[in-house]
Amino acid sequence: MRYISTRGEAPELGFEEVLLTGLARDGGLYVPADWPQLAPDAWRALRGLSYVELAARVMAPFVDDALGEDELLNLLADAYAGFDHDAVAPLKQLDANAWLMELFHGPTLAFKDFALQVLGRLFDHVLRKRGERITIVGATSGDTGSAAIEACRDRDAVDIFILHPKGRTSEVQRRQMTTVDAPNVHNIAVEGSFDDCQDLVKGLFNDPVFRDEVNLSAVNSINWARIMAQIVYYAHAGLALGAPDRAVSFSVPTGNFGNVFAAYGARQMGLPIEQLIVGSNENDILTRFLDAGDMSAQEVTPTISPSMDIQVSSNFERLLFDLLDRDGEATAHAMRSFRASGALPLEEARWRRATELFAGARFSDQETAAGIAGVLEATGELIDPHTAIGVLAGWTARRDPSVPLVSVATAHPAKFPDAVEAATGIRPALPARLSDLYERTERYEEMRNNLGDLQERIRASNRASNWKGAPA
Ligand SMILES: *Cc1c(COP(=O)(O)O)cnc(C)c1O
Repeated sequence: MRYISTRGEAPELGFEEVLLTGLARDGGLYVPADWPQLAPDAWRALRGLSYVELAARVMAPFVDDALGEDELLNLLADAYAGFDHDAVAPLKQLDANAWLMELFHGPTLAFKDFALQVLGRLFDHVLRKRGERITIVGATSGDTGSAAIEACRDRDAVDIFILHPKGRTSEVQRRQMTTVDAPNVHNIAVEGSFDDCQDLVKGLFNDPVFRDEVNLSAVNSINWARIMAQIVYYAHAGLALGAPDRAVSFSVPTGNFGNVFAAYGARQMGLPIEQLIVGSNENDILTRFLDAGDMSAQEVTPTISPSMDIQVSSNFERLLFDLLDRDGEATAHAMRSFRASGALPLEEARWRRATELFAGARFSDQETAAGIAGVLEATGELIDPHTAIGVLAGWTARRDPSVPLVSVATAHPAKFPDAVEAATGIRPALPARLSDLYERTERYEEMRNNLGDLQERIRASNRASNWKGAPA
């Protein structure tokens, strides 16, 4: 499998390089040169496999010869062994034709574990084989950080620096990151928003000298391997509900567009998906785009669904590339104008094509809270604010009620206990293995929103570069 950049100017890479590289050198994101496609019979043959077996089959064409069949299967078995539920991604029925897919049974209670538990092990495998070290830098609006840290802690070939927007994550989210006591884990609270953190990470990647010096890599959803791992649960749910002989729709609470792009990937592979519904909070750039073609960034508003407090959804570029018929130059041009003017130029016919598959709906904090209470009343399920936005969006934007609808439950309610308690009067308890989280010691440092400061900080304590020994 070869991977190409959405901006058309970076070299084509194989899986190992794409895994280690993160952002492409031309500022673009890597995507498969061709999507592997399964015919209906091949999909039927996957029915009834365990989650891990299915994952190995879905990922095999993407990882190609980077791992043998057994190596991949073993790696995945290990990655998902730490999940609390035997089904890994269980489906719960909400009403006559709607389901909740619970993606929060991993070690840090959000769907990010699905990809990052795999990513950490893939890094380890590939780096060991090559005798290399890397420095991982990631920006988090809350959940990526803890999932990445949990996946990379104590891995000898990896140093990990995670930036979070100071004071804008929930306390549980922050503590899950900052209470990990491992020498290769570095938490940095940035004075700014998540978009500022993400821009800092992009700034590091866009500095080729620094990038090579520390052997920089990414765990944000710009990393292709994360999308790859997330395709699996869409396939799993689709097969369970009758695919390929029946289409399914998914409703996904969306921030960086990575999770819903993985659903799009499953569709590119031939899984019949009728509709992809994007749920937003007040940071509604994506839903404004889908409603009216207006892709213009505004200030980030803090909400009770902080993992979606994002205005610039990195992974949207992957969809844009397809909407522009995979023209790298046109994608680069569109992204540059978006950066410069805050608005994305896109012809109406191309926007229409996006709206044939995608729909969006946005919800205020008040509506989200009412949604949490409403779902509890109607179904007995206690859901977190992100999940509530997904469920509400599905109810609002679903076109054909005869098509089964799966709403993606992206976080455990105990990850956002204040919002859930305010909505329902019930304070969700953390699972036993995290019950002492509030007593653990936190470790993090604070930093201004400044690229130079960040580079100095990383130079000072990564093990991949020999910077400290190099002449000034
Ligand atoms: C990350 C996250 C999201 C947003 O997912 P994207 O892939 O960024 O669109 C939604 N809900 C929760 C709980 C998350 O952690």
